[in-house]
Amino acid sequence: MATTYNPYDDMIAVLDTAAGMLNIEEKEYCTFRAPERELKVSVPVQMDDGSVRVFEGYRVQHSSIRGPFKGGIRFHHEVDMDEVKALSAWMTLKCAVVNIPYGGGKGAVKVDPSELSQAEIERLTRGYTKMISPIIGPEQDIPAPDVNTNAQVMGWIMDTYSTLKGYSAPGVVTGKPIEIGGALGRREATGRGVMIATNEAIQRMNLNNGADIRIAIQGMGNVGSIAAQLLHESGHKIVAVNDVTGGLYNPAGLDIPSILAHLATSPTHALAGYTEPGASSITNAELLTCECDVLAPCALQNQITEANAKDVKAKLVVEGANGPTTVEADKILTERGVTVIPDILANAGGVVVSYFEWVQNLQHLRWDEEKTNESLNKIMLQSFHEVDEARKQHNTTFRMGAYMVALERLVKVKRIRGLA
Ligand code: GLU
Repeated sequence: MATTYNPYDDMIAVLDTAAGMLNIEEKEYCTFRAPERELKVSVPVQMDDGSVRVFEGYRVQHSSIRGPFKGGIRFHHEVDMDEVKALSAWMTLKCAVVNIPYGGGKGAVKVDPSELSQAEIERLTRGYTKMISPIIGPEQDIPAPDVNTNAQVMGWIMDTYSTLKGYSAPGVVTGKPIEIGGALGRREATGRGVMIATNEAIQRMNLNNGADIRIAIQGMGNVGSIAAQLLHESGHKIVAVNDVTGGLYNPAGLDIPSILAHLATSPTHALAGYTEPGASSITNAELLTCECDVLAPCALQNQITEANAKDVKAKLVVEGANGPTTVEADKILTERGVTVIPDILANAGGVVVSYFEWVQNLQHLRWDEEKTNESLNKIMLQSFHEVDEARKQHNTTFRMGAYMVALERLVKVKRIRGLA
């Protein structure tokens, strides 16, 4: 019997299981079962037609035990507090898995940005920033891009916050435009991390014994499109891609450079209108269960569920999105022998390079892209290795291995710091 999906309950269920497997007493980790702070704001925005709409916004600060709160801001019409709470907790765990000195946070505004003009999005972003400004800052809580937000949105946050402070504060957000302190390579970082994790998993699993690997990618936003590009450049066949406007399947492999060129020139950056010989259109449900070796969900949470997990044909699932697989689906995939590289490892490349950007801002210097990519590669491979070792030691999944690595680090710091 399917229950109502609540991502926060899913997060708690996995955390409790990991704690149980590590014999960590509840009093040692119960602080991580609830966010430190939850802020809900109302943001009035003057629309282009002169009317005023009030948008609901959130910023949840899950944990600051290992460093400042860190995590993106998403604009989505279906977002709610439980989703933001789950996303903030996953940030805490993610930063601990890759061992960067941050806690976790997440923000959101309940809005469909495709219905707003650029000027309205700017006013909404500035209004939201003012409302959350008492709790953000370079040493406090550092937002970044997430679903439907980008470098320009980060630029408006940086400007609004700096104006309130009376000085330029680039370290308040990451994923900014390069001209105002953004890091070279940050835009590509999450997709690059997905590519690194996918190739490492393929190699460690000896998937297909070195023969061609067929990959399906859900979502052609920042994460999915870069992952598609880099996995294509790695020599794999990208057999399926999609976005909200539709999907394509080509068993011989899609022409990724041509798809990326279409996305870059289409006014809405959407797949709609793209065709190529040999490719047929597929629905989202068909993409998730198509013939492939690797499935990379790079869109939203709650995609691989109890309803479709038994039909997933991939042998490897790499979670580019946060929370794409429900707890029930995860069990089904595991029972069926499907390997899942979890979000808190697979999509950590974004926050790793956010960390590099923040370090550069605090030191007022700039790394070249090569240094960024090399350092990202090193951290992703090291973290992958540590998770794989934990998984083998406890004879469990990569997800559980990642939660264990993260929880041990968090609990260790909690023991050292004690209860305030
Ligand atoms: N939104 C991204 C994530 O979910 C990046 C967060 C960040 O860079 O702070 O990991």
